[in-house]
Amino acid sequence: MQSNQLKQIVIPLLDWYHTNKRDLPWRKNTDPYRVWVSEIMLQQTRVETVIPYYERFMEHYPTIPTLAACTDEELLKLWEGLGYYSRARNLKKAAQVICTEYQGCFPTQYKDILALPGIGAYTAGAISSISFEQAKAAVDGNVLRVITRLTENGQDIMDTGFRKQITEELEKIYPTRQRGDFTQSLMELGAVICVPNGLPKCSECPLHILCGACQNGTQLQYPVKKQKTARKVEEITVLVLQYQDKIAVRKREKKGILSDMWELPNWSGFFTDTQILKQLVRIQPQFDIQKNIICKKERLEHIFTHIEWHMECLLIACDTEYELDSVVWVTHEELAEKIALPTAFRKVYERMR
Ligand code: SF4
Repeated sequence: MQSNQLKQIVIPLLDWYHTNKRDLPWRKNTDPYRVWVSEIMLQQTRVETVIPYYERFMEHYPTIPTLAACTDEELLKLWEGLGYYSRARNLKKAAQVICTEYQGCFPTQYKDILALPGIGAYTAGAISSISFEQAKAAVDGNVLRVITRLTENGQDIMDTGFRKQITEELEKIYPTRQRGDFTQSLMELGAVICVPNGLPKCSECPLHILCGACQNGTQLQYPVKKQKTARKVEEITVLVLQYQDKIAVRKREKKGILSDMWELPNWSGFFTDTQILKQLVRIQPQFDIQKNIICKKERLEHIFTHIEWHMECLLIACDTEYELDSVVWVTHEELAEKIALPTAFRKVYERMR
């Protein structure tokens, strides 16, 4: 389908969107700050999961300057459970840039938006069109699914060149008005009608008479996604060291996965109970093997985008607050209210308590 044919989707899609759009908290208005936060949260995350996080976030940080001035601990605690924590850190960094370089007002030019930390072509396109009515497309997985089905295009959607080509084709057909609505109508159709995993709801789709895949019954052949390389499996031993009502936690290194986040003490690899206790004595010679007991042991898994953690988890009842590497002993209450523990470790903590 060429641009002149693709152009035919604009009016039916806009009409459909105006009647069927979901009532979502970030759609109350088109304020760029609100749009930005929602788009960042929605990356790799389902709408239902995002809604309560979004509402809490906007309550805590109603404006760009309030976000720019927040503490990392508070921000990460609010983000706890959403994952991909660099998104939160980049939101704060970008808010600080907006305060220093744009006097706290969101930049209006696409290239300036794109230059902000954590903002890629998709988010810049979404903000530019939704908040500033510019003819900029926001092409994500939902939009690629709709377009490749409409046009029966079998190119690999992971190919950045192809994404760029789709973006350019779409930008040629942007209407002169309601550009933000057009962006959102494509996203919405991909989210609720032209769904992934199983047959799309073509009978409810405003584009079905224009759609190649629907005409030919080839919906499930698109989009084409090159086989991903298998996730790397990492085996780790995770310790829940407990003394009275306290648990030992520590900060991760400032690089790599979950950088600079809190974690439960852990080592790469699996070990026998004896090896674990001996290792603790090596780190802290006062660690008394007779008085520190392994109470529980369990295997858990956690899946990240490219890595899979297979975790051997141990609950060890300690007889004092040992100084072990750089651990800090915190109460269960502090862990619940102040410490942002990534989901992988939160899962271990909840299971082992
Ligand atoms: Fe997707 Fe079906 Fe609509 Fe085509 S007709 S865009 S396959 S929902």
